Amino acid sequence: MRMLIIEDEQEIREYLKINFEKEGYVVDTAEDGEHGSYLARTNEYQIIILDHILPKKTGLKVVEDIRESLRSVPIIMLSVETAIPNKINCFKAGADDYVTKPFSYQELTMRIKTVLKRPYDIKSSTYTINDLTIYTDKQQVTKNGKELPLTRKEFMLLECLAKEKGRVLTRGALMENVWDMNIDPFSNTLETHILNLRKKIGKNGKNIIKTVTGRGYRIAE
Ligand code: CA
Repeated sequence: MRMLIIEDEQEIREYLKINFEKEGYVVDTAEDGEHGSYLARTNEYQIIILDHILPKKTGLKVVEDIRESLRSVPIIMLSVETAIPNKINCFKAGADDYVTKPFSYQELTMRIKTVLKRPYDIKSSTYTINDLTIYTDKQQVTKNGKELPLTRKEFMLLECLAKEKGRVLTRGALMENVWDMNIDPFSNTLETHILNLRKKIGKNGKNIIKTVTGRGYRIAE
């Protein structure tokens, strides 16, 4: 799941990024409304957390920009403003929820879950590939019942491929789903992770994660 956080307060922005990454989100951030609006309209996100009082462009204007671009991504607004007309304007512009600052992280995660339940099915799922079982809710992979010690990125890569079993995922698609915008698209990070993942899977690693020359990777059906 890819998330965008638009928040000018560094402390809140970093705190949210670190915590949501721990939960398995890929998190991009923007420090002002203009950059946030640009990222929201040029990338595919599953959820956007948007502060209201921002430099260069208000959160309300950012919501308007996003909806004008015909994107239906759920938006949760954060704001110190408690006045009802403010909230109503944000909802009218197309925000899905409004959380008043100071907020608790727990409350925000609950609200995200509620908002996501509407357009997305986030039921936990299990994928089986050969002797591997992937548990999305626990972020765990077992081989013949024994847990594999995967890093978070390795897990996300495998999950991403498993969800699209049989389909080729391009390098770009995998990078976009597993790393945030700060990744250098020309680095060999993806290749290194695939290599390590195959090693951890063991002897049949190469047969499970297949390289499709010139196109990307896929998990055989
Ligand atoms: Ca602010």
